[in-house]
Amino acid sequence: MFLPHEASSILGIPLSSHVSSDTLIWPHTSNGKYSVRSAYHILMERAIRDRPSHSNMEEESSLWKNIWSLKVIPRIKSFLWRACLEALPTKSNLFNRHLVPSPLCEECQRGAEDTLHVLWYCKSTNKIWRDYSFWPLLQASPPRSLAGLILVVMTSKNEVDIQYFATTSWLLWNRRNKGRSEQVWEPIQSIQQRTILLIEEYQRSNEVQGPRAPIPLNIQWSPPRDNHRKINFDGAIFIDLNAAGIGVIVRDSAGNPEAALSKRVVCPLSPAIIEARAAFEAVKLAKNLGLTEVEFEGDAFVIIAALEDPSANLTPYGNIISDTV
Ligand SMILES: [Zn+2]
Repeated sequence: MFLPHEASSILGIPLSSHVSSDTLIWPHTSNGKYSVRSAYHILMERAIRDRPSHSNMEEESSLWKNIWSLKVIPRIKSFLWRACLEALPTKSNLFNRHLVPSPLCEECQRGAEDTLHVLWYCKSTNKIWRDYSFWPLLQASPPRSLAGLILVVMTSKNEVDIQYFATTSWLLWNRRNKGRSEQVWEPIQSIQQRTILLIEEYQRSNEVQGPRAPIPLNIQWSPPRDNHRKINFDGAIFIDLNAAGIGVIVRDSAGNPEAALSKRVVCPLSPAIIEARAAFEAVKLAKNLGLTEVEFEGDAFVIIAALEDPSANLTPYGNIISDTV
């Protein structure tokens, strides 16, 4: 009746252990609480998905490839990717969605503010690009889209120029966000200095690290209060096996293990669901053992916060949280 991947997704839906009434949930934030920001992101993603396909697929795929292979911090790459998709909350985008009364750039007041305006055409920032090797090319043929601008920049033989372009663009966008909220605009010269610092920092960290060094694990178990027991719980997903597991261990105040539980479960739809199930199993084990003076410890911040929050949890794992508390 269902394809295997559909069946496994259905089996991964968390069910409540008691009969509960249907509730509207909001799966687009980590705590299940609605925010305008999360709704905005969904609308933008939908708009991107539904936009007409690019006439030149080859050009588009080379653009993505170039962006993802840039030698800059990952946050800058994802910024450029979102910028090329016009997925940033520029005034033009906000205006088109009736969220602001005008699309006008708040700094220069001279044009509609889209990403290309912020990063290239805004009179207040445009001069930042004059010393770069791609400047003459773009004077001869002004860009009509950010993707078009980036494709021209990428033709530069000077890799450092491309690195500078990406980093400066990201800083300009951050400058615009800060300026918009505080109505004070950071001087352009300081953007140039910060670009240099960021690139030097990137180069230094890559020289030292080479391939990514493993994160040193220095997490130590700390004992519970006297006469208490501590129950540690954790959940893990094994993507290759399409499976997930839960582990729970009970220790006395000296650290001696007293009971443990491990369970293989159907792969859930998200890591948070498996962590919520691990917390549920930990509490269930404590009840079954008749333990009352217990401290619980898990490493998933979002689940601990959900368990401590007295309001109804409207995430996809909300029913597990209400079963646990
Ligand atoms: Zn402007």
